[in-house]
Amino acid sequence: MTFKLDDFKGLAEKYAHWIMRTRTSLHIALVYGRGGEVLAQSSNRIGSRSKGAGYSGMTIHAERAALKKVGDVTLLRGASLVVIRIDKRGQLCNSCPCHECQQHLTAAMKKYGLKCVYYS
Ligand SMILES: [Zn+2]
Repeated sequence: MTFKLDDFKGLAEKYAHWIMRTRTSLHIALVYGRGGEVLAQSSNRIGSRSKGAGYSGMTIHAERAALKKVGDVTLLRGASLVVIRIDKRGQLCNSCPCHECQQHLTAAMKKYGLKCVYYS
């Protein structure tokens, strides 16, 4: 599966209504399986320290949360991860993963065969 700029724009449009409603920027990660189907989706608001998912006081970033949500790691073989960030006005921003996520993603690629990571 390849992900192009237009696909990112399409996703940004899809989430535009959410941005308008909440007036916050958004960080979204989607995991696509080999066949292009969405296996998992996760998001976190920039700057918010979301609790939950059993992470006591820790923030789990969208990219890691999405991989975790897939559950079955065998599904990650040949899968792609797409990360996008949209600002308050609905514009795409740079969503380069943080250092910690980067390491986690590299490990997932080596260990489980995650094929590519695309970020806006
Ligand atoms: Zn991160």
